[in-house]
Amino acid sequence: MSSSRTAAEKRADELKEQIEKHNRSYYEEDSPTVTDAAYDDLLRELRAIEDEYPEVVTLDSPTQKVSGRRLEKFSPVEHSIPMLSLGNARGAEEFIAWEEKTKSHLEREAITVDEFEFVVEPKIDGLAVSLLYENGRFVRGATRGDGVVGEDITQNLMTIPAIPKTIKDAPQRLEVRGEVYLPIPGFLALNARVEEQNEAIGSENIGREAEGKRPRPFLKPFMNPRNAAAGSLRQLDPAATAERPLSIWCYGVGEVEGVRFEGHRDSLDHLARWGFPVNPEVEVVKGVEAVIKACEGWLSRRESLDYEIDGAVIKVDDFELQRRLGTVGREPRWAIAWKFPPTTAITTLKAVHWNVGRTGHIVPFAELEPVNVGGVTVTFTTLHNGDDLARKDVRPGDKVIVLRAGDVIPQVIAPAPGEADRADRGDRPTVPAECPSCGTQTVRIEDSVWTICPNKLGCEGQQWQALRHFVKRGAMDIEGLGDERLQELMDADFALTPADLYSLPWEQLEARKGWGQKSVVALQASLEQSKSRPFAKLLYGLGIERIGEVNARNLAQRFRTMEALMAADPAEIELTPGIGPIQAEIVAETVREPDFVEMITKLREAGLNLEEEGPAAGEGHLADKTFVLTGSLPTLTREQATERILEAGGRVTSSVSKKTDYVVAGEAAGSKLEKAVRLEVAVLDEAALLDLLNSPA
Ligand code: NAD
Repeated sequence: MSSSRTAAEKRADELKEQIEKHNRSYYEEDSPTVTDAAYDDLLRELRAIEDEYPEVVTLDSPTQKVSGRRLEKFSPVEHSIPMLSLGNARGAEEFIAWEEKTKSHLEREAITVDEFEFVVEPKIDGLAVSLLYENGRFVRGATRGDGVVGEDITQNLMTIPAIPKTIKDAPQRLEVRGEVYLPIPGFLALNARVEEQNEAIGSENIGREAEGKRPRPFLKPFMNPRNAAAGSLRQLDPAATAERPLSIWCYGVGEVEGVRFEGHRDSLDHLARWGFPVNPEVEVVKGVEAVIKACEGWLSRRESLDYEIDGAVIKVDDFELQRRLGTVGREPRWAIAWKFPPTTAITTLKAVHWNVGRTGHIVPFAELEPVNVGGVTVTFTTLHNGDDLARKDVRPGDKVIVLRAGDVIPQVIAPAPGEADRADRGDRPTVPAECPSCGTQTVRIEDSVWTICPNKLGCEGQQWQALRHFVKRGAMDIEGLGDERLQELMDADFALTPADLYSLPWEQLEARKGWGQKSVVALQASLEQSKSRPFAKLLYGLGIERIGEVNARNLAQRFRTMEALMAADPAEIELTPGIGPIQAEIVAETVREPDFVEMITKLREAGLNLEEEGPAAGEGHLADKTFVLTGSLPTLTREQATERILEAGGRVTSSVSKKTDYVVAGEAAGSKLEKAVRLEVAVLDEAALLDLLNSPA
């Protein structure tokens, strides 16, 4: 045996061992300890060795079998047709090589294909399941397991509303395959709940410590939506699964009796007709160029979807060709996954810094060794609050896991595996006792995770953030006041509050270096313009704690004038759609604060718009109609569509329910569209929306 072969064999054994270890953490415990990219690299290395030395390939190699094992707590389900994995390509070049290989494979069987018809689908990052229907009734659901034997999770799957429990005109026996996933908003809500529970555990531990008892351990947040979905689905108690907002996209048929499909696309069309959620953007394309375009399209839309995808799946449409191509090891030869850049990465936490927000909250943020996560370089990111930071126990110098889910701000999830056990770790960062901006002693707010700077009026950091918020897009949209200019106005004591912007000492400004007449005139014009911004925008720009754009709009629509809002008590404010009791208290308290009242007086004198001009709630031809927007519309931005609906008296909310009157769906509409169809809510495209807006009944 040659020495290089022995070395290769040795390395292959090492790799197999490592991969198996990761498989256990990933598939059996739903708690991976390395990123998918790191795992894929190990698998690629093993595959490369096996390609070069086919003799080292063993039947139990992770390249040959579908990974994952059945947990004993679930009964076994044998798949009559194995549930396979997929080979993968990282980008166009590898895909083209695969396509050529596929063609030559067919040529060896004397079949010549000029250009394949491919079906391009999103690769949903969830958990593969098999759903069996007998005479139109859902009788059994299972996980993929090791591909041959899966776990019986029928009762858990029964709790997922998107899975049809009965189907009409269905074949006698039908096995549907799909991916169960947790929509990103559901994932974030789940982790927020973990955070809340941890807060409670934290408080309880203070008492336990005083009594000399051992502290209760904190709950681990889910690393990504996929692990959360897998964990949710493999609960022993179906009631626990039911609490998680799981959904499904169906992408194939396994066993079937009583119907013949022309090809893959035809099978998907049948599934959609029978009521299974099939992604509406699946497309059939011809030739490699079209596939590349379709995959790049998915990559660019990835951020706007409300479910995670880790790539696109490309499948040969023709079932006869699929049959001829067959499978190799654990993969079909007729399909391939085009993998996108990973959304988790490991990097070094260089430092933890602290900032003060516009409402006085002291917020930590991470400075990272720049790292590419899902195609974007991340250097700074928020660490939320001191409690969260303490719980995650990430320290400067640690390698940490960074996650980017959807278009959500990147998050530091946890120390990388092994880091927490290092003896030479840095110190735990602690919430500063003094405000990082003005030096005032910070105050911990009881029963909350927050520490604040109480120096509301005199803290430069807070004033700076409040000014930035006021001028930004979506609020007063004042051009010509970037960060540097704002800082300059503050340093010169020209503007400390938004009201000051309307009485700037223009002559002095004009004389300053870098300003001059031209920029002064331009700034005067944009400030003048801002005076007629809608009242809702001004209200939002004033930065009342917990009042975002939508709530500001709802408050403006309900109270009509600043005066009325300032006179309202919490109970009245709470009647506004979207406003809860805590927000109502905060609003009532803020609008009565002397500095707020003084600012409003100044803004009124300056001529700003303190009255809502659109129709009152309950007026307009779409009065009381509730809309949900999803996906991107061909011509209107989301903000424009919202404005138009509000102008007509309608309401815009963010989630679809039975109370929703219309869902306006554009390109890349996700689970909201699916839910609308399920709840039989009317779905409009942009043209239909415009018709509705333009035709008062
Ligand atoms: P895969 O996820 O790469 O591909 C196969 C799976 O894709 C199918 O089983 C199905 O569940 C899913 N899928 C989603 N959309 C689909 C569609 N439209 N059509 C067909 N299938 C679709 O392969 P795999 O064997 O399931 O798992 C490997 C993945 O798991 C890799 O991404 C790997 O990085 C990750 N993994 C990570 C670790 C870790 O420790 N981090 C360990 C094991 C596996």
